Amino acid sequence: MPTAFATADKLDRNELLGAPVRWPRPSALAAPLSVKPAKAAEAAAQLGLETIGDLLEHLPRDRREARTVATLIAGEGATIVAEVRSIASRPVRRRGMKPLVEAQVADATGMVKATFFNQPWLARKYPKGTRLVLHGKVGSRGDFNVEGHAPTTQSTGSDSEVAHYPATAGLSSTQILALVREHLHIAHDAIDALPPRMRRAGGMPDRAAALVAAHAGDLEGGRRRLAFDELLLAQLSLLRRRARRRASGTAPALDGAPGLTVRWRETLLPFQLTGDQRRAVAVLDEELAQPRPMQRLLMGEVGSGKTVVALHAILRAIEHDMQAVFMAPTEVLAEQHFATLQALMPGEAVRTALLTGSTTAKRRADTLSKLATGELSFVVGTHALLEPDVLFDRLAVVVVDEQHRFGVRQRATLDAKAPAGLVPHVLHMTATPIPRTMALLRYGDLDITTLRELPRGRRPITTEVAATDAERAAAYERIRGELDEGRQAFVVCPLVEESEALAAKAATAEFERLRGGELADYRVALLHGQMRPREKQEAMAAFAAGAFDVLVATTVIEVGVDVPNATVMLVEGAERFGISQLHQLRGRIGRGEHASTCLLFGPKISVRLRAVARHSDGFELARIDLELRGEGEIAGTRQSGMALFKVARLPEDEQLVEAARTYAEGLLAGDPELEAPEHALLADALAAAHGEAQRQPLPA
Ligand code: ADP
Ligand code: MG
Repeated sequence: MPTAFATADKLDRNELLGAPVRWPRPSALAAPLSVKPAKAAEAAAQLGLETIGDLLEHLPRDRREARTVATLIAGEGATIVAEVRSIASRPVRRRGMKPLVEAQVADATGMVKATFFNQPWLARKYPKGTRLVLHGKVGSRGDFNVEGHAPTTQSTGSDSEVAHYPATAGLSSTQILALVREHLHIAHDAIDALPPRMRRAGGMPDRAAALVAAHAGDLEGGRRRLAFDELLLAQLSLLRRRARRRASGTAPALDGAPGLTVRWRETLLPFQLTGDQRRAVAVLDEELAQPRPMQRLLMGEVGSGKTVVALHAILRAIEHDMQAVFMAPTEVLAEQHFATLQALMPGEAVRTALLTGSTTAKRRADTLSKLATGELSFVVGTHALLEPDVLFDRLAVVVVDEQHRFGVRQRATLDAKAPAGLVPHVLHMTATPIPRTMALLRYGDLDITTLRELPRGRRPITTEVAATDAERAAAYERIRGELDEGRQAFVVCPLVEESEALAAKAATAEFERLRGGELADYRVALLHGQMRPREKQEAMAAFAAGAFDVLVATTVIEVGVDVPNATVMLVEGAERFGISQLHQLRGRIGRGEHASTCLLFGPKISVRLRAVARHSDGFELARIDLELRGEGEIAGTRQSGMALFKVARLPEDEQLVEAARTYAEGLLAGDPELEAPEHALLADALAAAHGEAQRQPLPA
């Protein structure tokens, strides 16, 4: 027999039936959203508003201040909140046009005639006394020509503000507001997946209330609750993916005494490891010694010494008589890594091969057979390594450079190449430093090690912004000075987003201009993306060998170029580049014994250029970038579909990200499969948001 809340009083059947109950019908949120006319429906689809649920999760960005009638200015767009005093439709003379609807609308400051086009039914829909949000423009005759409208319960007057939605051509913010008003009651059919205990602990409103508030109340409070849901599901999905890989098999425990690695570090490597490198190596050693497959991300900007750390892990495999793979995202990078790794490698017999799409059939066959027998212990390559006929005898360590370019499925393919029942240890590397919270979103299924400290001997780079003609002239003077000292320089041409061909053309023009002008007395080479791979390599190699003083290039030099004698970089049209791109570019200089200078040609007022000039720490710059642009823009996460959050935003929601991570960890620690009855709704929500595969139990 049920009892009344917090008492022992029994409740009889009639009392139970009389109790106020809520019957959420989540199917109401899944119902398709009907939008009229067709053009608006198309726009809605473009915004991803397919269902009523989509609409209710399409939250306003902010509030837009509404004008009062008295302050309307002819020719300017404005939003007002006003009450209908009279309304009527009026036929139009011109044939084929629907009747106009004209209304007198008023707020406390005055009255204005509002004209609605092509919607004769509005005369009945908005009777006298209806309060409306109207968006439109005041025409030459003083009429308010309505472009968007929605009924509202807001009071009219000077302090009113109107929720402002992300909109698109064909569907305005006010039209979205109207749709939301029409459907907001359906928010009460939303199911709250959060276990009540968690909700109470976090002092959070229930989901239905949050949805309503996010549109028509405490916008920010409501949004935060919804953002938390999104972030929690994302963390649950990432942590389950991590757990799944952990449980997917055993890794070879590389726990033998070091031999080769110690000889390498102590006698063959021409430098001492930095503190960060030593710490990273210690972490790797410990993880590689476990039978649990490592899945770690090594994050550090270009030149921070990641390759050296990765090589340690590779040699650790080799000294256990196991095999290792180093996979790079492009052929050029694979070749460069191959050269770098061989240079850093001990002179002793570590057999290494390169395997890319352009490896000859004969060499490929030879490499494959030696990998399969285990005769070859180490291979560097591209996606070509993922081919099904690439088989290993005893694969233990996989290093993946720039991991975000490899999908989860590709990682699984590599996993499958280890000996039966064994899963390799995987070390991912990225040269794009990002703040911790962003890393939790993007790499939340990995453990993360960062290299912040740059190797000693790296010279600081002075960065300056040159805006005026005089400053530009001085900059070229500076370059010539360095060249006369025997140094070399990069000239980076402006970013041309539209096409590689245009970028190449611009670079060629600049090359010709400099050759005949400011740098006429020097040997100038050209490098752009339209050149053949061979030509590119030759240009790079010639520049690296000192056969040219200046390399005029597009952003193709962004990755993987190492010319220690290059001490100057000039970036044309620097304001067109993003912060991290400029920072990456700048990493091409300051690699030798001489002090280096980076000259950014662009406006002094640019916040981005100033940030790059002021800071040399990539992590700090990533932070600033995040603040300036928000998470969606950074590193193209939106396009790559890595960080598809509808509601959550960075950096505003950093604390929520941390909270979601903590809650997710706690939840899964107690209930790894989300099997407990109070987690059933969460398991459903997880499957809905991240795929039915989320329901699969972890391997035993
Ligand atoms: P990353 O892979 O992070 O770009 P690398 O490992 O390629 O960095 O190192 C960049 C350069 O610095 C290389 O020339 C490398 O030999 C050198 N280097 C790496 N670690 C050190 C160190 N601890 N001391 C001096 N030079 C180092
Ligand atoms: Mg490197």
